Amino acid sequence: MIIEKNHIVKNYVNGEWYVPKGDLLDVTNPTTGEVIAKVPLSDKNEVDKSVHIAHKAFLTWRKTPPVERSRYLYKLQQLFEKNFEHIVGLVMLELGKSYADSKGEVMRALENIEVAAGTPTLMQGYNSEDIARDIDEYAIRRPLGVMMAIGPYNFPSMIPFWFAPYAVATGNTFILKSSEKVPLTSEFMVKLVEEAGFPKGVFNLVNGSKDAVDALIENPLVRGVSFVGSSNVAHSIYIKAAEHGKRAQCQGGACNFIVIMPDSPLDKCADNIVNSFYACAGQRCLAGQNLVIVGDKARYEEVKTRMTTIVKNLTVGVPDDKNADFGAVISPEHKQSIIEKINQAEKDGANIILDGRNFVLKGFENGYFLGTTLIEFPKNMFQHSTVHEEIFGPVMNLLSADTYEEAVELLESNPYGNAANIYTQSGYYARRFAYEVHGGNVGINIGVPAPVPHFPFGGMKRSFFGILHGQGQDVIEFMTEKQIVIQRFYKED
Ligand code: NAD
Repeated sequence: MIIEKNHIVKNYVNGEWYVPKGDLLDVTNPTTGEVIAKVPLSDKNEVDKSVHIAHKAFLTWRKTPPVERSRYLYKLQQLFEKNFEHIVGLVMLELGKSYADSKGEVMRALENIEVAAGTPTLMQGYNSEDIARDIDEYAIRRPLGVMMAIGPYNFPSMIPFWFAPYAVATGNTFILKSSEKVPLTSEFMVKLVEEAGFPKGVFNLVNGSKDAVDALIENPLVRGVSFVGSSNVAHSIYIKAAEHGKRAQCQGGACNFIVIMPDSPLDKCADNIVNSFYACAGQRCLAGQNLVIVGDKARYEEVKTRMTTIVKNLTVGVPDDKNADFGAVISPEHKQSIIEKINQAEKDGANIILDGRNFVLKGFENGYFLGTTLIEFPKNMFQHSTVHEEIFGPVMNLLSADTYEEAVELLESNPYGNAANIYTQSGYYARRFAYEVHGGNVGINIGVPAPVPHFPFGGMKRSFFGILHGQGQDVIEFMTEKQIVIQRFYKED
């Protein structure tokens, strides 16, 4: 067993591992429904203690030269490589994600460490000589102090590393508050941070839920808040952070549209489209939710038939099953919320082509599995809540549009703007699409347009609150503040 029996997840503060006082919450394996661990819900006292320690550590850490700080990341990178399969195993265990998808996300965490190690160059400032006679001006990027990140459940290894390595590499100290639904991966990754030898108090882990988040934001020594999760929470955190005078980058939920144009070759693109909707059981913020088929009736039927055939043959299974296309969803409550969205669509007149609501995986009857669902919406239902609100499950909605313009109008009527995808061979329509839509991550014949670490992870409209995103040069800007120095020296007499 990858986790010992009766495991209690620990906080890591000031280089010490311990279980804080207070309530414990069950951590469940979504594949079996079994409780596999308990996670503490840290209270305000605990949070304030960790912030105080992180602040104290900052006073020394910020003086450590950037090249030296990067050396800790090189060590961490090696430890991630060495323990790669173990991290993958934890993601599979607590999230129920397939081996291939778990591997993909851990790889992205690793790549973020690699990119952050370039901080000595990435955080360089700039200067101008002679802005006035004998006067020079320069801008220095300085760390801010204690930075914190709050993660969602669906990428337990990758998302904390959109922020963590950059925060510490730029000279800040850091507190991670991972999702209480998937705390095991974070706990292990922070053990690797410890092994890499970071000085005490530089990198801290505080477990908990809303109360811990509130206490972190309210603490005056916390300077910046990085958040990834659902839109309503992202929005409330953005407001709270502003009230408390700190910078925030809050990445929210999604409801993504994929437009398929009449010229798109189904033989080449159909599998890629299907993967966007169903891999990770649809629990990706870049997953497709709505497929808008552009063209006449014959084209609509052609795409619908192809999608139905592929989707019908997808395999739902446990994470170790190499043939499984996806596994369970995170919780019984989330499973029920997906079922209710399908129920509502059906009740209001949508056609359920494939119905995954009653799916049971033999031998795993207590797991939170759903089969594949494919729903066809008539035109008068194109503004339905099941089309425009995030489902985050293994569901594809089919919609039609006579023209490209009609498809874009439908997409743009949606309040979210995380991903927007088009499948076409036409450079003209591809360019127009990227130019016209409000999608933070645009895919052109790409089902999941996930930015690599040296690009920011986009997001627009209700999918993002802030200016600077995670990853890329954005995160370096976010983790540093610019100080401007204007100087002159008089000739000594
Ligand atoms: P969530 O909003 O329920 O929780 C995210 C984090 O916020 C957790 O750590 C949780 O403890 C904390 N939290 C929850 N409610 C809170 C509250 N009221 N006040 C303060 N903190 C609170 O999200 P989730 O269900 O864990 O994750 C799924 C969501 O995340 C989906 O909406 C998905 O689209 C989104 N997501 C977005 C991106 C992106 O880059 N835009 C990436 C991954 C996931």
